[in-house]
Amino acid sequence: MVRLIGISKSFGGVTVLDGVDLSVAAGTVTCVVGPSGSGKSTLLRCVNRLERPDSGAILVDGRPVGLERRGDRVVEASPRVLARHRTSVGMVFQALNLFPHLTVLQNIVESPVAVQRVRRDEARARARELLDRVGLAHKERAYPRELSGGEQQRVAIARALAVRPKVMLFDEPTSALDPELIGEVLTVVRDLAAGGMTMLIVTHELRFAAEVADEIVFMDQGRIVEQGPPAAMLGRPRHERTARFFATIQ
Ligand code: ATP
Ligand code: MG
Repeated sequence: MVRLIGISKSFGGVTVLDGVDLSVAAGTVTCVVGPSGSGKSTLLRCVNRLERPDSGAILVDGRPVGLERRGDRVVEASPRVLARHRTSVGMVFQALNLFPHLTVLQNIVESPVAVQRVRRDEARARARELLDRVGLAHKERAYPRELSGGEQQRVAIARALAVRPKVMLFDEPTSALDPELIGEVLTVVRDLAAGGMTMLIVTHELRFAAEVADEIVFMDQGRIVEQGPPAAMLGRPRHERTARFFATIQ
């Protein structure tokens, strides 16, 4: 479903991603872990073209992200094509990122109506379904500032789901939350996994990763050091660097 092939990216001469190859099969969950600065967020941002890789290719559902064919040439995608591409990839960030001046319901309805030209009443009905799924049906008229951090993140997940993405990307969706609010967000992600959503999740929650992931990827210094199923990765990592990292955060 998602394929990254030889992705490299530098900022001002500093290599942040160094030839990353990664595949996430449809209906599976891959969790990316690694030290701060290892390139995890940059990698996710490349998948929906918030960053443009210097080299390599990214395919989502077989289609190259951020590129389009014009005649017999492949060129940088126009903003319109890019906006459409992005609807197949939902993203939830670490920082809370709802539109502050819109209600919960309006936040969720916005993208399907503006980008996908879904009828407003249809988008509203779908938004209410999604709010119900994340346990916030009673909050549709609230503004983001009136919600707890955990509630805001659950709305952000509902908003990302509103465009019916094929893949969901999560960048440390619980790291800005108080410990008692983390569980409610992870429960929503767990439900999505059980429903067969393809997901790529950056997280520091190793126990959660072990439970929800089909595959855990350990990154360091812009490279994938090793990857494998949770039991193998956490139980007997092959690389000393991986073992050391797991020891520091468990
Ligand atoms: P964390 O766990 O702290 O979130 P990370 O693994 O997500 O870290 P990235 O955010 O991908 O790391 O950053 C990797 C490196 O790239 C860092 O050294 C960061 O300073 C640098 N970097 C990221 N984005 C930019 C940018 N837009 N301009 C310059 N440098 C950047
Ligand atoms: Mg990050």
